[in-house]
Amino acid sequence: MPSSVMPTTIPGSGPQAPAAVSAVGLRKSYGDKTVLDGIDLRIPAGSVFALLGPNGAGKTTTVKILSTLVPADGGQAQVAGHDLAAAAQDVRGAIGVTGQFSAVDGLITGEENMLLMADLHLIPRGEGRRIAAELLERFGLTEAAKKPASTYSGGMKRRLDIAMTLVGDPRIIFLDEPTTGLDPRSRHTMWQIIRELVTSGVTVFLTTQYLEEADELADRIAVLHDGRIAAEGTAEELKRLVPGGHVRLRFTDPEVYRAAATALPGSTADDEALALHIPSDGSQRALRTVLDHLDDAGVEADELTVHTPDLDDVFFALTDGAGVPGQTAQSAQSDATKETVR
Ligand code: ADP
Repeated sequence: MPSSVMPTTIPGSGPQAPAAVSAVGLRKSYGDKTVLDGIDLRIPAGSVFALLGPNGAGKTTTVKILSTLVPADGGQAQVAGHDLAAAAQDVRGAIGVTGQFSAVDGLITGEENMLLMADLHLIPRGEGRRIAAELLERFGLTEAAKKPASTYSGGMKRRLDIAMTLVGDPRIIFLDEPTTGLDPRSRHTMWQIIRELVTSGVTVFLTTQYLEEADELADRIAVLHDGRIAAEGTAEELKRLVPGGHVRLRFTDPEVYRAAATALPGSTADDEALALHIPSDGSQRALRTVLDHLDDAGVEADELTVHTPDLDDVFFALTDGAGVPGQTAQSAQSDATKETVR
């Protein structure tokens, strides 16, 4: 690795973990379309941050602004301790960006792509070869290194893209939808790579449309909706925002169903399905209370399911579900959840 790298500790940091990225009031419009309407962010160094939002929410725009590719219309940001507007060159020296605008050249081999990056970073030839070999090995590309990158699978291209980014030894990496379009195996490989990056001290700024991905990887998640951060926190904190948890009891005998409804006054009844929904945090204690009530009434349910809130519930509660394009199936699932909240 080259020695001229950014320090991990960002100057001027307080007792809190130093911020790798901080932004206040970022705004961006294209024509009369407001894409970002005042975005605030604070991402501690050495963590994974996920910016979550559906297609067109403004995730790529945020990445492009923070990586100096497009200017913001308003607001301020520091990346790796450098002011975005005043010290764009220093920001560029500290970051790596991979994603939808891949830097991989398909006409040359994986190894040549790596060596080109080493040249761009003005790394001496010998050292460049050593770094390239090391990174190709780390990302499982040694065998394919001498083949044109155009012959690589989608997953291999993404891995090569990240390997190329790491040639410059960035302290902060922006990964714009790193797993969109990948098959499940490649997606898991990518998740593993991201976890390893963080172990080595890199800060990862990730954008994703996948709730599961944010849940798996991110220390903190921000939900982007209508140009603003609708909520921000750990996956657990976000899940606590929505009261989506419930116990569902289903019956086959209408008499038993009615007796259970009387025994559980807080429940919501679904007469057609002969089902009862009882708001619940899904804990053992809450479950026991429900079962005790049923026992006392001398009735037994034919089916019992526990639903604890997940990021889907959070996402759809925050974005009203209906307004989110391309999410109909999950939207319906969320509506089922909300039913119990009322
Ligand atoms: P995401 O990455 O969340 O899918 P984007 O940041 O790519 O969203 O886009 C957000 C919105 O901004 C979209 O409506 C998109 O059409 C619009 N947009 C992005 N880039 C441009 C551009 N260069 N010119 C005009 N509109 C743009």
